[in-house]
Amino acid sequence: MTPGPEARPARAAGPCPRPCPVCGRPAEARYRPFCSRRCADIDLGRWLTGAYVLPGEPAGTGDAPAAGPGPDEPAPDRDR
Ligand SMILES: [Zn+2]
Repeated sequence: MTPGPEARPARAAGPCPRPCPVCGRPAEARYRPFCSRRCADIDLGRWLTGAYVLPGEPAGTGDAPAAGPGPDEPAPDRDR
């Protein structure tokens, strides 16, 4: 999802060393880093639908299902 800098010795065989993160084709300078507007839309769609994660927030908290905080939180001791 994130086009992280992979330590891959890519061959500089053109003006666009980075391939399109969506389909892998050579990126077009006009739609960088994508090869076409279609791929740009696809990537945008992924952001809006699936990978809508705020930076800094952990995507998953342990092995708990993505349903917010657990319903059974320990009751506070107010027996003082
Ligand atoms: Zn593409």
